[in-house]
Amino acid sequence: MNYNIALLRGDGIGPEIVDSAVRVLEKVGEKFGHTFRFTPYLIGGCAIDACGEPLPKETVEGCLAADSVLLGAVGGPKWDTLPGNMRPEKALLGIRAAMGLFTNLRPAKLYPALASECPLRADIVANGFDLMIVRELTGGIYFGERGMREGKYGEEAYDTECYSRMEIERIGRVAFETARKRGKKLCSIDKANVLDTSRLWRKIMHELTEEYPDVTLSDMLVDNAAMQLVRNPAQFDVIVTSNMFGDILSDEASQITGSIGMLPSASLGETTRGLYEPIHGSAPDIAGKHLANPIATILSAAMMLLHSFGLAAEHDAIVNAVDAVLNAGLRTADLAHGAPALSTEEMTDAILERI
Ligand code: NAD
Repeated sequence: MNYNIALLRGDGIGPEIVDSAVRVLEKVGEKFGHTFRFTPYLIGGCAIDACGEPLPKETVEGCLAADSVLLGAVGGPKWDTLPGNMRPEKALLGIRAAMGLFTNLRPAKLYPALASECPLRADIVANGFDLMIVRELTGGIYFGERGMREGKYGEEAYDTECYSRMEIERIGRVAFETARKRGKKLCSIDKANVLDTSRLWRKIMHELTEEYPDVTLSDMLVDNAAMQLVRNPAQFDVIVTSNMFGDILSDEASQITGSIGMLPSASLGETTRGLYEPIHGSAPDIAGKHLANPIATILSAAMMLLHSFGLAAEHDAIVNAVDAVLNAGLRTADLAHGAPALSTEEMTDAILERI
């Protein structure tokens, strides 16, 4: 099969890590008989420098014409003083909106070989953990009516949370489908003891169980979920939650893996075209020094193979190669704690050898 992939390298370590992922995809293509065609587009600070805006029209058009999109990271001190709508990070919201991406998939996995990176007590994570957070991305309080007004006690501000049946059903279906492909356990997280949006959310999640009898659904209040993630993260398989709760819980989940350079993400919409990117930023402190860990971006490319192209064996080949590299004790500097470490390119070579 032939696949067209738009590459948004971005700023800082973005070009280095995206190029690593491209090499891995080329190797997978060779091995499994696929052709991946890559077309680069500008985004973020490099787009501001070249075109005067963080998200040029050609970039949006190129992403919409591609089969899928791989993004490095944007931003850096050079552009930090620009006004809000001219900041590189503005391009991220713009491209997600233009592509209609309403789902964010954030896996958080503790690799047995990296157990010592985990900030939790060893006995809590003795068996590791491997969970997936499905976060609603385009609704809820971040997009609701908001404003400032004069109230009884003077100046006040308000934000409103609103979720429609359509929005809850479509993120619910993504979550049930995701659980179906994994351990068939879905935990829906809400605040149904207080919020009406959560009560509708919970009702609809339970209605969906009729369509997915093979998936076991449970509910958890968000305050309890924040505790359970650090008390016993291995109890979770797939979590589905609203935009704001997902924003907070997915960062908590990433922190308990202890390795920011390892975590991929996917944002998906109605079509198979998605936006795949590492969860970390552009790491300007190490840009150009060959120190970046390319694994989060390589695993983002693996997610693309699975979620956009349905290539499960190809996805597994990458994931297994990453596991093998870690089990062999190979580390980039972020995980080496001063011991000799591989450069970005050497880590990529080590993964290529194991595909
Ligand atoms: P960061 O994630 O870029 O870096 C945090 C720390 O983690 C740094 O010490 C960095 O060196 C390290 N790090 C991150 N990724 C790494 C990797 N792959 N390998 C090794 N070490 C890695 O976060 P920050 O420093 O807060 O932000 C830097 C810039 O990135 C800012 O301009 C910020 O706005 C931007 N940012 C962009 C995105 C995105 O593009 N999606 C996300 C977050 C931050």
